[in-house]
Order: sequence, then C-alpha cells, then structure tokens
Amino acid sequence: MLNSHARATAVNQGATGYLAIDLAAIGSNYSKLSSMLAPTRAGAVVKADAYGLGAIPVSRTLYAKGCRHFFVAHLMEALALRPELEHDAQIFVLNGLQPGSEFACAQAGLIPVLNSAEQFHRWSWAAREIKRKLPAVLQFDTGMSRLGIAPEDRPELAAAVRTCDDVKILFAMSHLACADERDSQQNFHQLAEMRRIVEEFPGLDMCFANSGGVFLGAGYHGALARTGLALYGGAPTTALGNPMQPVVHLEVAVIQTRSVPAGARVGYGGSHVATARTALATIGAGYADGLPRGLGGRGAVYFKGQRLPIVGRVSMDSITIDISALPEGSLTLGSRVEVIGAHQTLEDLARDAGTISYEILTSLGHRYQRTYC
Ligand SMILES: *Cc1c(COP(=O)(O)O)cnc(C)c1O
Repeated sequence: MLNSHARATAVNQGATGYLAIDLAAIGSNYSKLSSMLAPTRAGAVVKADAYGLGAIPVSRTLYAKGCRHFFVAHLMEALALRPELEHDAQIFVLNGLQPGSEFACAQAGLIPVLNSAEQFHRWSWAAREIKRKLPAVLQFDTGMSRLGIAPEDRPELAAAVRTCDDVKILFAMSHLACADERDSQQNFHQLAEMRRIVEEFPGLDMCFANSGGVFLGAGYHGALARTGLALYGGAPTTALGNPMQPVVHLEVAVIQTRSVPAGARVGYGGSHVATARTALATIGAGYADGLPRGLGGRGAVYFKGQRLPIVGRVSMDSITIDISALPEGSLTLGSRVEVIGAHQTLEDLARDAGTISYEILTSLGHRYQRTYC
C-alpha cells in the first residue's frame, strides 16, 4: 500500500518488480554533503536520469534543499531538464559542445563545460554572433586523460581567456580518477596540477571534487563540488563503512515455484545441476532490469533475512533462486524477495555481479513499479 502522507506516486501497474526511491534520503544525503563541504557549494550530478533514479524528481528535491548547480553529461539531458527547474538553477553540460550545437546551448541558457581550446573559441564566436556574453566552465586534464584541456594548450588558452570579453569563465574544473581511494598518490598529483592551473588562470574558482573527493579533505573541495553517487546512497569511498543513507529499495515478486529432483538442470545452458531435491522459485526481473548476468551462480536475494542463492544463469526477464532453506510454502506466487534493501546493499549486489554500484543504478531500467517517497 502506498502511503498518501508521503505523497507517493507509482507507475507501471502490473509490474513484478518494485523499486522504491527515497527522495527524503537523497535530501538528507545532500544536507550531509553540504555541511561537510561548507563553505564550498554542493552541486548535484544528475546525468543519466540521475543515475537511473529520475532526473526530474531528484533535481526538484535537491533544488528544494538549496542546490543550485546541476550537472548532466549531454546537451540533450540539459535541454530536457531546463524547463523543469527554476531560473536560478544553473545546468552544466559535462561532455562539452559538439560543433554546431553552440546556439542551441546558448539559447536554452545552459552552461557548457569546454574541454578544449577549439570548444572555447567556438563558444566565444557564438557569443559574438548573438551579441551576448556567455558563461562557461573550463575543464582541464590533470591526469585522467579522459576529457579536458591538455597541459600543453594552457599557455595559449590563458592568453586568449585574458583578452576575451565574450565568455565568462565561471570555474576551472577537473575530475579525479581515484577519488574513492583515500591514499592514492594520483589524488595528490592531480591536486598539485589543479593548483598550478588556478595560478595560470588567475581569478578562477576551482570545481574539482566528486563524491569521493568530498571525503579527501577541504584541500580538494574548491568552490563547487560535483556530487553524484553519494547523493543516491552509494558508498563514496572504498574505505570505512558507507556514511550515506540508503536511497534505493528493490523487491521482485515470485512468478513461479517448483520442486526439482537431483540431476535437474536449471536455466540457460543447463549450467546448474541440482545435487538433491531442490525447491526453486523464479522471480520476475532479469538482466534487462539491470540485474547483471554476472550474478548467475554467485549472487543472492533475501526473504525475511534468509539468503536465497541465485542458481543457474540470469535470464533477460527472470532469475531462479534456491529456496530450500525456507519452510515449505513460505514463498508463493506473488511473494516478494529483497534484491536491494536491509540485508543486501547496493554495493553487495554490485560486488557479487563483478561491477560497481554506478552501473547497477544506471541499469535499473523502466520495468519496475517505481515509488517515490
Ligand atoms: C559523473 C561525474 C561526477 C560525479 O561523480 P560521483 O562519483 O558519482 O560523485 C562528477 N564529475 C564528473 C566530471 C563526472 O563525470
């Protein structure tokens, strides 16, 4: 039953998976990160539909908590989000600007993260064309070799920025490759490089830390942080426990139960063979619902605290579990088992699947009955 006091909304009636997204927990996580970061501002990364959890409800929740800086990866994501947020919310496009998309970006009032001198020059040309000073962020490569201005291009660009009246640079940005590893030497090297950049581009504020970076200490915080995973309850560092509140709760319903004799083969390829008479249940979610094939023969789900191992391969729409540990008849058609919740965290599931919590969240898909509370 949905709690009307929590103003819960649900979609996908008839689904066999139940995804509950706790917006209040996202709000608490934002408050926690904000107070750790103060006076640094906490921006929110809501790319990939807020890591699969819904960019619009998540962004509105964060706006209500005081967040004013929102980061997406693609211009198309920014264009979709812009009308949903108040005018004082700034939306940044992390992946930069494709040639030809400058006017669409400018007209929608979006802020590109410029990743090369070429992108800077195109943006300032667009500003001259439309006779309006345009905002931007400059991203520098400080050692990840993924996106950003290369070290050798900095002197020339610094000169161009100094003499340019068309573009207002809001931040000097870079991204940490190992922020979740507290003791990684690469963090120190990237911070040292970032400090050199801020000297070469005087007056620019630093935008550096992701979720993990928040926990590396104030030296990494700069003026604006870009927090993603930690908002959604993921563990921001590999050390310690997870200080964030869980956000995602996932249950999947039993769609059939059976008892098979010793020697029975289970699932595609017949890779699992029952060694004794076994009680099985098949649940209604599979790899198309973001439960990776890597869980086959390795992962588990939970029912009333009892671990129920996944047997055989994960199918597209279903998973078979061994329920022999439960008293007979305790799981029947329609019973729900826990996939992510009190007994199994997002990180537990990711580890068993041989992946990371980011990939689990962003793969959850749209076949669950979603409840926002
Ligand atoms: C995805 C992303 C983030 C957010 O990282 P989290 O680890 O989820 O906090 C921040 N900055 C950039 C450039 C990103 O691509």
